[in-house]
Amino acid sequence: MDSMRAAVLDGYGQPLRLIRLPVPVPGPGELLIRLEASGVCHSDVHVWKGESVASPPPDPYILGHEGVGVVAGCGPGVTDWQVGDRAGAAWLHDTCGVCELCISQNENFCPNQRAHGFHVPGTFAEYVIAKAAFTVRLPAGGAAGLAPLMCAGLTAFGALERAQVQHGETCAVFGCGGLGLYAVQLAARRGARVVAVDSDPAKLLLAQRFGAQATVLAGLDLAQAWQDDHRAHATINFAPTTRTWPAMLAATRPLGRIVAAAMVSEPVPLVQEWLTWTGVTITGTSVGSRAQMRDLMALHAAAPLQAAVAEIRLEDASDALAALAEGRAQGRYCITF
Ligand SMILES: [Zn+2]
Ligand SMILES: [Zn+2]
Repeated sequence: MDSMRAAVLDGYGQPLRLIRLPVPVPGPGELLIRLEASGVCHSDVHVWKGESVASPPPDPYILGHEGVGVVAGCGPGVTDWQVGDRAGAAWLHDTCGVCELCISQNENFCPNQRAHGFHVPGTFAEYVIAKAAFTVRLPAGGAAGLAPLMCAGLTAFGALERAQVQHGETCAVFGCGGLGLYAVQLAARRGARVVAVDSDPAKLLLAQRFGAQATVLAGLDLAQAWQDDHRAHATINFAPTTRTWPAMLAATRPLGRIVAAAMVSEPVPLVQEWLTWTGVTITGTSVGSRAQMRDLMALHAAAPLQAAVAEIRLEDASDALAALAEGRAQGRYCITF
């Protein structure tokens, strides 16, 4: 166990290079995790293309932040983990631990966070170093079903928490890709009536199977055609476009909540007067906290969340990134080792 296979980034937008690297050694408070699987997330695409880059970037430059595996080594001072424990390495590698956000258990908003595959080496490799305090214990179940929960599932869970979706409420989910389909299931489990929106009828069929009570095929007149009985207390956007906003406003009841989960870098159309009249709260969300991750693992242990996962090999990671970049992906890609 002295070398490992890893896919490293040599040039933005270029195929990742498969090389052998020394297996890293865990430092104080750190775990060495032998990965069973790593999801491929859309944020990896932004890093791969150089659109979203940390300064300095990880060294070695290994992407990936949806890692699940088994503890293979414990650094000095680690007392609550043992070799052989199943462990998950998610987006957060660590945070500052002392700011008001960290102290209030909102560490996923800490401005001094470091992320796997962004600031420190990630999970597109056979081993990853994680901080024990930021590593999640995994329930039983297949690695390919667990890996996408580390970011996609947690982001959906965090969005529902931000939206404070309650039993009996109507929750509109815009965008039924990987994250949206997790949100549909989580909202249905909370007892909400879920209205799922997408431009792809196949995704709406999945949404229906995963618990959506109503589905709406997104077209040009989505805002005008929004039915009154579909108006939502909570509207969550996972579609990475500004085009959903007129419909999201039409879909949301007065005093409702809109949560922006998708990464959209352009300004969105919004008339302030509409906010004045409706009293709607608009907020964002960023992955999730460690406490939310533990809650998500408990939910998955009780009844596994479903996802369309395509298992791939490490050497196929570049193809998966390209497919995600071009919008060709059906479901989530997951590298299995
Ligand atoms: Zn902090
Ligand atoms: Zn992610």
